[in-house]
Amino acid sequence: MIHRRLIDIQDMVSGSGLLSSNENQLIEGVSIDSRTVKQGNLFIPIIRLKDGHLYVREAIKNGAVATLWLKNHPNPPTDIPVIFVDDTLVALQSLAKNYRKQLSVKVIGITGSNGKTTTKDMVSSIAKTTFTVHKTKGNLNSEYGLPLTVLEVSEKDDIVVLEMGMSQRGEIEMLSTIAQPNIAIITMIGVSHIANLGSKEEIANAKLEIITGLQEKGTFIYNGDEPLLQKINDRFHKKQLRTLTFGEQSSSNDFYPTKIEMNSGFMQFCINHNDSPVFTMNIIGKHNVYNALAAIAVGKELGIPMKTIANGLQKVKLTDMRMQKIMGANGLTIINDAWNASPHSVRMAIETFQELVGYRNKILVLGDMLELGEKEVDYHKEIGQRISPNKIDYLFTYGNLSKHIAMEAQKYFERNRVFSYTNKNALIENLTRTVESQDIVLVKGSRGMRLEDVVNILL
Ligand code: ATP
Ligand code: MG
Repeated sequence: MIHRRLIDIQDMVSGSGLLSSNENQLIEGVSIDSRTVKQGNLFIPIIRLKDGHLYVREAIKNGAVATLWLKNHPNPPTDIPVIFVDDTLVALQSLAKNYRKQLSVKVIGITGSNGKTTTKDMVSSIAKTTFTVHKTKGNLNSEYGLPLTVLEVSEKDDIVVLEMGMSQRGEIEMLSTIAQPNIAIITMIGVSHIANLGSKEEIANAKLEIITGLQEKGTFIYNGDEPLLQKINDRFHKKQLRTLTFGEQSSSNDFYPTKIEMNSGFMQFCINHNDSPVFTMNIIGKHNVYNALAAIAVGKELGIPMKTIANGLQKVKLTDMRMQKIMGANGLTIINDAWNASPHSVRMAIETFQELVGYRNKILVLGDMLELGEKEVDYHKEIGQRISPNKIDYLFTYGNLSKHIAMEAQKYFERNRVFSYTNKNALIENLTRTVESQDIVLVKGSRGMRLEDVVNILL
């Protein structure tokens, strides 16, 4: 984590007001949360729903040794050193940006509509075979999470893997300018956040902002099956980027699978490179093979031999709630994919689920896909049309939007196979009556639907 003198910190945040007697004092690490401050930290009070300045006493009690302070904000503390700034969030971001500049690490930045966290976990598992790696914890991919992650990097780390999330134009540009990646990835373009951005093209443009911070002669790895990503070639030619694409089998993709096999808890595949071993990963879903291709491309760029890349991929453990297979004590299998849902990721999850064999009943539990704008009902109806009554035994939906999934599916399913709820407890009650040992249940919905509640009850 960052370890600097206060005078250097003041410089890095373009702050003022530090007393000369405090200039050489060291801080170790940064925190914006008084509850989790550690001894020696610099506290940065952020104004969000609450005003972080109100928590400085608690932060000091818990170990903070200095604080940033918004200029003109009343009552700065007098018992610890204070650096005054114009905006504390901007100061956090500049601190991270300047710290990153001083580090000799290689940064891998990952954005995309789906698959960021998954690809981040895969890239770091591969990089860890050979290097010391620091990665974004969980899903800390925001304007706060990314700078805090950067400030946790230690001078001994070789590789930093950063997830970059967004819901508006300009956010990825800001994150990428902080991170200054050596390698940037766009996993895919979907329609998540289309309500904010207006069109899929605008979403692609927002993700392409990652190139703004990408270093000159850096490597840009992107989904070659997405036409909206092709136009980078003229827009960023001055940077002399090295571009690599992944995706379906095609002469234009640099990385594609030549053979994919899905088994009950794992996938195996080979790729179009002479030295391709058989890759095995304890993760299911064809979409995860595409995420893996991006991660393999990073491994190659880092000079890791293919066999070692395969070893790293085999060891990957995804962050919870991403196609997470859980065995219940009662012989029930649950696939917990409840982290989030968008039309593309729901289609991929259903496709994967429909291919699984060897279970008594296959039960699909789907919650609303949120933030999809005016066409939200159509997106839900379309999902309903993709659920095959030959491959799925029961469908349960939860929410006002996903009832449209149920209404479409009802056209194809037998009676009493499709149930639609807007009350979670009612859904859980019927679901627990329906499931039996040897069944498999897939649970998926947007973050706001909190379908992990269903998983927890089933377990
Ligand atoms: P968030 O924006 O919530 O941070 P993310 O981009 O980090 O999401 P993951 O957490 O990796 O994405 O995966 C979220 C969901 O998308 C999971 O349900 C996963 O199964 C699905 N998913 C992952 N990769 C892909 C992909 N390449 N294409 C489609 N769906 C995917
Ligand atoms: Mg994520």
